[in-house]
Amino acid sequence: MSKIRKSKNLNLLTLKTTYLGIGTNKGDREKNISNALKLLSHIKGIKLLKVSKMFKNPPQEGIKSGYFLNGAIKLLTSLTPLELLKTCKSIERKLGRKIGYRGKKRSRVIDLDILFYGNEVIDTKELTIPHLMIEKRNFVLIPLMDINEELIHPVLKKSVGELYSDYLAPTSIKNCARAV
Ligand code: AMP
Repeated sequence: MSKIRKSKNLNLLTLKTTYLGIGTNKGDREKNISNALKLLSHIKGIKLLKVSKMFKNPPQEGIKSGYFLNGAIKLLTSLTPLELLKTCKSIERKLGRKIGYRGKKRSRVIDLDILFYGNEVIDTKELTIPHLMIEKRNFVLIPLMDINEELIHPVLKKSVGELYSDYLAPTSIKNCARAV
């Protein structure tokens, strides 16, 4: 905490604990991840707290080429959700991800998603937080569990460890109601 207090870049009154998902399936995956982490760590208003192990996954959800490396990042931020989204998009662009790809299921140099932003629930044109389908994506749940199995999904009111157990039992996923 003392280190955080000394940081000039964070406004302590508005700090949020936030979790990002990170993924890459193009080029030198390890390098893409470390470049993204370096850029994130240099952003005013962001302090990285913990980075999960990176997990190798086959491509899913219609993406055809290349294995993925997926991980999760825990950070403290004074940025608003939209500022954080813009920051993620700007890092994606800096690392070579092209714009205008949404929904095209292309390979990606880097993908940064806001998984949780404190306990906030946001549903706007630009942002859905918690990120969509966390509970149905092992490549998101496993890295989150690596950081904190007890982390609670603020809509489903279950820990990521519990959601992973549900994920492994498809019938319980079907019955999992969103407690909005
Ligand atoms: P993607 O192809 O996953 O990078 O999709 C990026 C788009 O998803 C962005 O332009 C955002 O407007 C939208 N989006 C909605 N919710 C989120 C979120 N929680 N984190 C990141 N992007 C989001």
